[in-house]
Amino acid sequence: MTTSGERWGLAFEFERAAHLLASARYPIAMTGAGVSVESGIPPFRGPGGLWTRHGEPPMDGYQRFLADPKGYWEERLRAPSEIVQALAQAQPNAGHHAMVELERMGLLRYLITQNIDNLHRAAGHRQLAEIHGNAQLLRCIGCGRRFTMEALPVVIDDLPPRCPTCAGLIKVDTVHFGEPIPPDVLQTCSREARLADCMLIAGTSALVYPAASFPQMIKERGGSLIEVNLYDTPLTPLVDCSLRGAFGEILPTLVEQVRARLTA
Ligand SMILES: [Zn+2]
Repeated sequence: MTTSGERWGLAFEFERAAHLLASARYPIAMTGAGVSVESGIPPFRGPGGLWTRHGEPPMDGYQRFLADPKGYWEERLRAPSEIVQALAQAQPNAGHHAMVELERMGLLRYLITQNIDNLHRAAGHRQLAEIHGNAQLLRCIGCGRRFTMEALPVVIDDLPPRCPTCAGLIKVDTVHFGEPIPPDVLQTCSREARLADCMLIAGTSALVYPAASFPQMIKERGGSLIEVNLYDTPLTPLVDCSLRGAFGEILPTLVEQVRARLTA
């Protein structure tokens, strides 16, 4: 049950978050798995988590791909995993749409997401980097070029697929365990984190590097951090403002407050 003190506390935090966002010179955002759970994508760990139920994925997924790219593709084509099926059905939630509003208002300059589910793009977000890749795309590990599944259909009697530009091996764009973050994405994220003086962090405890380094970089240079999460995270002691609650409920309210501030 919410006490009046907690309600007052949340109203205060909303005011503060709206102020920090509206007064920042270059606010950016970072999102993680928590925002996808609200769109029906199961988390990896914890109750009901994919890895909790099916076991952790191999820690050398990328090396396995390199060792046997044909086998990797055969397995993917024959038995689409539960996550692939969940991804195919998921739709952006109110939080994804509110994030797009912040971008359209000219306020949010960039979005770094750890999610592979394409939901930010599906909602209409334009300026974003998917640091762990995008499950809807394919990527050449030679030249880094990305392809839609339609542009480069993968057929079972011609595996592994090869890049039409450089003949390099093609895998899904999703970054596997043991695989380096694609250098173009990493450079973009680092550039944006250096430019930013405020970061809205939603649905992630930002513990996994390199994502973990971005809030720290911003904070060390005197920027502000706003956290949106159901729970306290290891990042909470570092942030200027914590909005406790569901992404799909908090973000639309935050957009209203920011808009009221900008039009006042
Ligand atoms: Zn290539």
